[in-house]
Amino acid sequence: MARKRVLITGAAGFLGSHLSDRFLAEGYHVIGMDNLITGDLKNIEHLFGNEHFEFSHHDVSKFVHVPGQLDYILHFASPASPIDYLKLPIQTLKVGSLGTHNLLGLAKEKKARFLIASTSEVYGDPLIHPQTEDYWGNVNPIGPRGVYDEAKRFQEAITMAYHTYHGLETRIVRIFNTYGPRMRVNDGRVLPAFFSQAIRGMGLTVFGDGSQTRAFCYVDDLVEGIYRLLLSDETQPVNVGNPSEITIGEFAKEVLDLVDNPEAHIVHRDLPKDDPKVRQPDITRAKNILGWEPKISREEGLKRTYEYFKIAVPAAIESGELEPRAFAKTS
Ligand code: UDP
Repeated sequence: MARKRVLITGAAGFLGSHLSDRFLAEGYHVIGMDNLITGDLKNIEHLFGNEHFEFSHHDVSKFVHVPGQLDYILHFASPASPIDYLKLPIQTLKVGSLGTHNLLGLAKEKKARFLIASTSEVYGDPLIHPQTEDYWGNVNPIGPRGVYDEAKRFQEAITMAYHTYHGLETRIVRIFNTYGPRMRVNDGRVLPAFFSQAIRGMGLTVFGDGSQTRAFCYVDDLVEGIYRLLLSDETQPVNVGNPSEITIGEFAKEVLDLVDNPEAHIVHRDLPKDDPKVRQPDITRAKNILGWEPKISREEGLKRTYEYFKIAVPAAIESGELEPRAFAKTS
């Protein structure tokens, strides 16, 4: 039987590259699309010799053309760290809105099933804790995060509209904080920030008093949840994340203990505007419908991720992406 064909947008990014690996391992033909504004070909260069992988350098905010049959479309293209979407506010809005519209049109044309990467950011600074899928959120549309949050909320709305109006097969995953190898060392998110600071023997920049919470999911667990959701019949949004919640202050200590660099320490910086005070997924729906829950503890996931950053941080210093500050003392 012919291989099923899947289009993955954002394929050169952190999640897109891991999804590409998974779909290839499952026997699909993968077309990876990316405009490389925040993605990096390094994340998929190991796939270039694979006859079942094609790369298309394209911005999905413009009309998307893909020759041949498509069975599935997974829309994962978007700047995804608060620093990135502050730097790229218009692109962030466009890829979530225009990009999603273009890809929905493509899915309709190809009769493909369509899955979007939504986010816990649709809940904003939540007033319900942990967050269940029926919570509508507490989002500031004109704050610094609004460009991402509202693009993702619009993305859910237009995806649902294509489902109800055109009968398109759609899936919505709400992704909570996820980490693992291939995160960009300087994307500003808390985990790459802490690892790259600890490895270089610098201050780990805890924003505010560090009492805000997050719940971190290892990437392999997330990919498993997404894969199951795609193949399920569920058209309502599904939270996928690890409910194990920790304060950012405690998280900094875990990274300090793991990296064990005597020069590294904790420093405090101002809390960014509209930074959610708490975040934790309620994964009852994923458990019931997908039979899914995370398997990899933070201890294990952080160890695996550290192995990646041990190599990626010196490489980023070498290429000039990161300042070498204090690095010499840690090697
Ligand atoms: N954070 C921090 N230091 C950093 C980067 C982030 O203390 O150098 C905090 C940030 O204020 C937030 C949490 O870590 O409370 C997670 O931030 P991230 O940018 O990873 O993503 P978010 O979950 O806010 O979308």
